[in-house]
Amino acid sequence: MYDRILIPTDGSMAADKASLHAFNLAEKFDSELHVLYVVSRWIPPVLSNDVKIPGEVHLSQRTVEKLKSGEMPDDVETKEKLMRPTEKIADEGRERGIKVVQSVRAGKPNKEIIDYIRKYDVDMIVMGSHGKGSLDHMILGSTTDKVLKLAEIPVVVIDTYQS
Ligand code: ATP
Ligand code: MN
Repeated sequence: MYDRILIPTDGSMAADKASLHAFNLAEKFDSELHVLYVVSRWIPPVLSNDVKIPGEVHLSQRTVEKLKSGEMPDDVETKEKLMRPTEKIADEGRERGIKVVQSVRAGKPNKEIIDYIRKYDVDMIVMGSHGKGSLDHMILGSTTDKVLKLAEIPVVVIDTYQS
């Protein structure tokens, strides 16, 4: 019934909390679990040859284009950095015997999430009400707000306010 479930993650504790429900649902429905991270901020390498800002990902235009078409960059270090936000959820899912697909895209999180569910025929999304952003949004973070408005499939929103 729900062959493919998507858990989008920004690497936050909120997304981790939501993932527990994604695991339960994937087990229940014997679904494939897609763990997607959308990198939304990066620095072009031309601007950063000398200064490497810790924590920031440096991506060439070529790499961004690759990510947009669903491919991973060749550079091992960059690849590792981009995979990191999905790692914990993917590992936990696999430990529980769930078939996991790890994906990374570049762009606006809400747009990439919507493109992804259409492209991969995802049947359900499980996500946090909040993420890494500031807690200015009392009710919903902006990514979840937009996904709820645009997705044509069920979206399970886990209350992660202050988690
Ligand atoms: P805002 O980003 O509006 O300041 P926020 O970060 O608290 O607020 P959202 O971005 O809406 O709230 O995050 C809610 C959920 O959306 C997260 O728990 C996660 O499931 C998903 N999400 C957010 N950002 C991303 C991202 N970059 N890639 C994948 N999923 C994301
Ligand atoms: Mn956010």
